[in-house]
This record gives sequence, C-alpha cells and structure tokens, in this order.
Amino acid sequence: MGYAEVSVNSPIAQRRTFSYAIPSGLGIDVGQAVWVPFGDKLLQGIVLELSQYPAVEETREIAGVIEPDPVLSPSHVLLARWTSEHYLSPLFDAVVLMLPPGFRRKVVTFISSPARAPEYDISSLTREQRHVLDLVGKQGKVSLRELETALGKKRAQAIVSQLVGRGLAVRSYELERVKVKPKKVRYLHLKVEAGEARQEAAKLREQGKASRQASLLEFLSQATQPVPLSEARRKVGSSASVIEALVGKGLAELQEIEVKREPISYLGITPSEPLTLTAAQKSAFESIRSSLLQVARGYTSPTVFLLHGVTGSGKTEVYLQALAEVVKLGKRGIVLVPEIALTPQTIERFASRFPHKVAVLHSKLSLGEQFDEWQRIREGEFDVVIGPRSAIFAPQPDLGLIVIDEEYEWTYKQQDKSPRYHARDVAIKLAELTGAVIILGSATPDVETFYHAQRGDYHLLQLPERVTPSEGSPLPQVEVVDLRDELKAGNRSLFSRSLSQATAKALAGGEQVILFINRRGAATFIQCRSCGLVLRCRRCEVTLTYHSDEDVLVCHQCNYRVPVPQICPRCLSRRIKFLGIGTQRLEQEASYAFSPARLLRWDSDVTRRGKHPHEQIINKFRAHEADILIGTQMIAKGLDLPLVTLVGVVSADTSLNLPDFRAGERTFQLLSQVAGRAGRGILGGQVIIQTYSPGHYAIQAAARHDYAVFYEQEIAYRRQLRNPPFTRLVCLVYSHTNDVLCQREAERMKRFLIEERDAQGIADLSLIGPAPAFIHRLRGRFRWQLVLRGSEPSTFVSQIPIPPGWTVDVDPVGL
Ligand code: ADP
Ligand code: ZN
Ligand code: ZN
Repeated sequence: MGYAEVSVNSPIAQRRTFSYAIPSGLGIDVGQAVWVPFGDKLLQGIVLELSQYPAVEETREIAGVIEPDPVLSPSHVLLARWTSEHYLSPLFDAVVLMLPPGFRRKVVTFISSPARAPEYDISSLTREQRHVLDLVGKQGKVSLRELETALGKKRAQAIVSQLVGRGLAVRSYELERVKVKPKKVRYLHLKVEAGEARQEAAKLREQGKASRQASLLEFLSQATQPVPLSEARRKVGSSASVIEALVGKGLAELQEIEVKREPISYLGITPSEPLTLTAAQKSAFESIRSSLLQVARGYTSPTVFLLHGVTGSGKTEVYLQALAEVVKLGKRGIVLVPEIALTPQTIERFASRFPHKVAVLHSKLSLGEQFDEWQRIREGEFDVVIGPRSAIFAPQPDLGLIVIDEEYEWTYKQQDKSPRYHARDVAIKLAELTGAVIILGSATPDVETFYHAQRGDYHLLQLPERVTPSEGSPLPQVEVVDLRDELKAGNRSLFSRSLSQATAKALAGGEQVILFINRRGAATFIQCRSCGLVLRCRRCEVTLTYHSDEDVLVCHQCNYRVPVPQICPRCLSRRIKFLGIGTQRLEQEASYAFSPARLLRWDSDVTRRGKHPHEQIINKFRAHEADILIGTQMIAKGLDLPLVTLVGVVSADTSLNLPDFRAGERTFQLLSQVAGRAGRGILGGQVIIQTYSPGHYAIQAAARHDYAVFYEQEIAYRRQLRNPPFTRLVCLVYSHTNDVLCQREAERMKRFLIEERDAQGIADLSLIGPAPAFIHRLRGRFRWQLVLRGSEPSTFVSQIPIPPGWTVDVDPVGL
C-alpha cells in the first residue's frame, strides 16, 4: 500500500504534512487535491509527496479525490514547502496561493450507489429509505442538499447515514461550482442604410436641433461593423437619451452579444514592432538572450539579472524583447508590476507587443473572472502573465522568464496576512526550481539587491542614459531648497520663493506642474522650524514619533520615551513643534498662490471612490484638463507625462523621518522616482526639492541622480548599525485589545526568547524592543513588536512554539 504526505486545510496543521494511506484503486499523484479525514471532519488537502512508508504508525485513508488532475505542478509543490519554511507560515496558507481562485469553497455532499451493493431484502427498508434509493438509482447521484429540501434536514441526514451504514449508498464530496456569468456587451448599429443615416443627420443639423443625435448618426454611418455601446458613448459623447431617441425613431438598434472575456480591452491598442535597441539596451539584451539560450540547451543554471537603469532608459523595451525571445524558445513569462491600477500604460505596451497573448491578473476581477483566467493560463493560452505580487504564483506552464519591474517596491511584500512573503524572493526561488531566467528591473535598486549584485550573486546590467526624448537626454536639473532660509527671509508659505517662481513660469508657458508630498504612514515627527533638527532615539538612530494623546515622543524600535521639549536642544529656538502637512492643505494653499491654475488632487482619499479612478485622473491630467497635479507617492509610479516640466517636492522630510532604518533609502527612491516624472517630453524639466535637511546624503544623491553615492553611504550605515543585508530580521508582533496586557506579553516573550537563546548558546542574535508597533492601534487592537536580529534569526524562531495572538514576519520591509 502507498502513502501520501498531505497538506491539510486546517489551522492546526501549521507547517507540517500528515500521512494518509492511499486506498487501493485510487490513483493519486503529487499535487492532487484530495479529501482527507481530520479529527471528526472531512477536509481539503493537497498531496505533496508519495512514499512507501508512512511517517507515523497509524494512518487513515484518503477519502477521495477532488479533481482528477493535479492542481499543483511539481515545482509549485516545492515552492509551497519553501515558502512555508522560509516565512514560517502554515503550509496550507502557502499552498493556497497556487490553487485556483476560490478553492476554499463550500463542500457539496453527494449520495450515489456503491460499486458493488450487498444483497438486501427490500421489505427491510422504510418507505423513505426506498424513496432515496430510487432517486439515487435513477439520477446516478443526488446532492444531500436536494434530499434535505425534500425530506427535511434531520430526516435526510438520518436516512443517508442508515443507507451508508448498510452499504447501500456511498457519500462523495465535490467543491461547489464557481459561477461564471457569461459576459455580454451591448452593441449599437444602424437599422437603415448608411446614406439614409447621413441624410437624416444633415436634416437634423439643418433644423438646428439634436446635434448630438446627428453626430452619433454620422459616426455610426462610418462604422463598418456594430459598435460597442460604451465606445459610441465615449467617441461622440452621447448620453443614454440620445441613443434612446435614435432607437425610438427606428434609425438604430441595440443588440446584446455574448463575448469571450478578454482580460484586456484591446480597443485603441495597435500592435507594435520591436524598437531598434540602443547600444546599452543591446548589450543588456544580449546578456539575457545568451543566458536564455544556455539554459535552453541545458548548459547552465539560469541567471538572476539586475537591470539598473534610470527612468526612461528603456528597461521596458528590454523586457519586451527578452520575452519575445522566450516565446521563440517555446516558453512563457510572468511579469510583476508594483500596482496594476497605476500602470495602465505599461500594460498597454505589453498588450500591443503580444496581442491577445497577455493575461492580466488583478483584484478587481470577480471570483468567476479570476477562476476563468486561472484556467486559461494553466491551459497555456498566454505568452505573458502580468500582475501584482500574487501573479508570481500563476500556473503559467513552461516558465522561461520572470520580470520584476521596480523590484524595490514594498508592495511586493505581503504584510497583512500569512504567508508574509516577498514576491522577489519567491520569484528567485521559483526561477531556481523551474530553470527560468529572472530580471529584476529598477531605477533605484533595493540596497540589498544591489549588494547581491556587487557580490556577484546577481548579474548587473546597466542602462545609464535616458532614451527619450532623444538618446542621452539629460535627466532633469534638481534644485534643493533649504526651508530654514525661507523662514529667515520671512516666507511662511508652503512654497519657497524658488518653487513659486518656477511654478508661475511653467504655468505661464502653458506647461504642467506636479506638486508632491509624501504622507504614507503619516508618522508625525517633531521638527525645529529654525534649524531643522528632528529628535532621534539615542540608541537606535531612528526618528522619534510624536504621540499627541500623551504628548510624548516614542522610539518605535526600543520604546524609549521623552517629553516634547519646549525649546530646540540645538539652536534654542522656541519654534520646535512643527508637524507635517497634508494634501488638502497643500491644495488650498496652491489654489491661492497659483490662481487661476486648474488643480487636480490625486491621493487615496480621492481614489477610494469610483471604479477606475487612477486611470481617470491620469487621463484627465494628460489631456491637459488641469495645470497642477497634487499628490502623494502614487504620482511617483511610471507615468509618462510629456507636458510636465516642473516637479516640486513640497517636503522631503516626511519620508526621511519615518521611524525605520530604511527611511534614507525610501527617501532616495521616492525622490528619484518623482524626479523621473519631469522632463519626459521635448520641453525638458526641472525639479525642486524643499527640505529642512538639505545636507542629508539621500537628498544630495537624489538631487545629482547618483545612485552610487547613495549606495556607498547607505551600505556603510547598514554595516555600522548591523542592519540588513549584514544581518537578517524577524519581527514578532503581539496584538491585544488591552494595551497593558499586550505590553506584558511582549515582555514575557522577550524574556523567554533570551533564555532560549542563552541556553542554546547563540551569540549572534539580538532582541530589540518590545516597543509599540509603528501603527500602534489597529482595528481596536494594540500591537507591540519585538525584533530579532542576527545571521539566522528565523532558524531560531522556527523552533519556538509561537502562542496564539502573535504574528511572525520574516525579512520585514517596514518596521
Ligand atoms: P523605462 O522602462 O526604463 O522607464 P521605457 O522602456 O519606458 O524606459 O522607455 C522610455 C521611452 O523610450 C518609451 O517611450 C519607449 O518607447 C522609448 N524607447 C525605449 N527604447 C527605445 C529605443 N531603443 N528606441 C527608441 N525609443 C525607445
Ligand atoms: Zn533648532
Ligand atoms: Zn530606540
């Protein structure tokens, strides 16, 4: 008899599999979804391994198969195990990432006849039992739910148990079907000849009325085939009443047609040809191509490439051509982007290069649509799958290339639920398991990624120059404005003299301006308005966070607390309590200062409403329906806005003062990305950064577009303060409705961990905290955190029983 190691869908299962015997006659494969008895329940499980011998003495039998074909490929099985072990997450949580969407669905019980029924005397059965057997005999199988409706819940269950007990019926289980509604589109077409429609339009115009009906008629008379209603509306700007009027007059007709769901609207997307690569692009591309060929011939294991190129240096074109190469080799690719809603332009570029061969995964799809898309990907319908972090788990067959655009983005880390994986690290593992080549692309590589490239773990490719508007166009000029000087000069507005003048000049020239502030996390820190001093923790070097409820400053790493000083300890000024600014206030001030400029605000308050708000805002701004765009980090994403000649960073200090050792890196990345938005067109561009810390290395390096200078300084600090990549971190968070109990438990845990560490004699492991988490209170629960730092903190934590209420984050990105 064979045995199977099964990952079971139960919170009790944690990181382990369970052994089950395979009943004879049941064909079981690795990756198959099965039903297994677990306690007194029947649960879903996935077979991860087959073996001759069970891992324990007593095993139960697999109850049945959920789907005849394996749902996980062998490399996904290995990836699930790795993810669970690396991130210390329950195994089934990792498995679920790779299952068809909605796999954790309701179970439907069916009753059917056994393969061989025992002899029985019909008179020994009750009338109801006979009735059920009759039904089963006629229909082959009957759902328990149907019987319950007919006989009542209790009765039905009792009768089924009696019949099963006598061997006259068997139960089987299936997952509820995912309901996929067919997609229908309404089309509009003429009911009359095109000529007649044009005459009718001319008549309406002559009468000087219903000009919009006339426009619509003219538009339809030119169309060679029925036009989707939405397109007719967009093109001609006709409302429902205009369309109704034409239909009412018998001139046009609406028709509903069922269409195949296209993940992308190809309306307005024309196929594109590969561009002739610049010398730098060509050399990067050739390295990638040669690696792809070597792997295909089985000569080498695949390479991890870091493609470092400033914004606009043509990285995307390199991805596109590398993907085309992969397709030529009969393989496929996965492309990860930080946020799908913010990258419509990028998706269009992929869609136009690989028409109808691109799948897009995103959370706006309904469950049915996601399920549909998953199946089509698995069947190999697409050359390229594009999506956010979870797309790394798409069932893309014959994987040959993985691209991670803007690899430093924090959205690649899943922070809010288990497994707390980083898509970049998962991708590197997946590439290793499948033999895929991987490209990490970035203008501002993560310091840890660059460190690996420096050490030779990754192959570094560089695109040092912009390709547009022409090859070698300069990056925008960056001016750093010292806000302390503004104050000295009596300027109390949010805009320095320099920024005001530049804005006025750009607007006068009919150009566009972006005003940027960073409010993510909205950490409130206290700053001296005279000398710019920000108070930091003496032990951890991180910025102290202001807690208005207690009027104290707190270190979110070690819980050091001080009252807010009345005067600045450096310059003795009394103007020390200066807090950050928000987008709304910025909008208000800008509307006074730059009237009559048209303003457009883009932040999460605005985009939470509506369905395609990001796209709408981008399109509105690109159509020059506004002069000034005011926004937060969303603006920094890969937008191409040729009319923008000036970007003003109203305050660089918010991100600089995040209570996190990565604050400097984060600031450099943000400023570089924001600066990359200026001067994308032939008009050139300028960037003005306002700050109280003009001398900070992150700001200085961003102003000179100098990644190398930034990296050297940052890596030196990391080494000095023993932060990653020189160590690794595990963050443990405990949450509780009672703050005092929460803190107490965190302290108890710390003592326990220290005892364990010392008992095991691990020298190189330090415990930081406990301290209130950065977001101290979340949905009514308080959170305290403990950080473990060392060379192998997760190996240590993996042996510790973690009590309920704690979450474990391995390699956290934000502390
Ligand atoms: P990145 O991804 O590095 O920001 P892109 O690939 O988006 O850069 O390129 C920036 C712009 O330059 C795009 O408009 C792109 O079409 C154009 N471009 C890229 N490579 C070339 C090339 N070899 N020749 C002409 N234009 C190019
Ligand atoms: Zn001061
Ligand atoms: Zn501290």
